[in-house]
Amino acid sequence: MVTFWGTCLPASAALQGGQSHALATQEFFCRAGYDRQKCEQHIAQLKAVLIQYPVGTPEHWRWVVVPSEDWQPLVQSLHLNRESPAFSDITERETFLEDALFFVQPRRTDELVRHFRTPFDQLLSAAVSHELGHAICHGSSEAIANRVAEQLRSGKHPDCAGNMKSLTPIDELYLHSQSPGFPRF
Ligand SMILES: [Zn+2]
Repeated sequence: MVTFWGTCLPASAALQGGQSHALATQEFFCRAGYDRQKCEQHIAQLKAVLIQYPVGTPEHWRWVVVPSEDWQPLVQSLHLNRESPAFSDITERETFLEDALFFVQPRRTDELVRHFRTPFDQLLSAAVSHELGHAICHGSSEAIANRVAEQLRSGKHPDCAGNMKSLTPIDELYLHSQSPGFPRF
């Protein structure tokens, strides 16, 4: 869909021991021109989050880090919510992440923290687990992505079925919160 990334870091390059198995088929990229050292740093942060969800990472998935200054033109061109710092292309098996998830950027970080009501140090894992929800359930709704994200974060097996008959009060709260304007990734 979008083909502008440049710096390719083979998943096997910076991995050790048990990490290599879980992330063996993942591919990591930063947008062309991205500072190499920063790119490696952010991808290390991303891998540290991904290994927390070993059952959740689909095989052969591509992760792309995009600088904040390029993020708004990108989401606008795709008609996506400008607040969102992450989105996935399920067909192409790709997830795009704004780099404001990785380090504090004065205005944007405040905006994200307020919008998602999530402390900065949890934003990246919140965004990644939500996108994994979409990836694992092949798109699916925001409600199901949120639920699977919750399952991943609490160490449970992801369940895409979304059986409406067995909704817990928390699930219902999630679903009812899905009105337009509710924060979502
Ligand atoms: Zn979503």
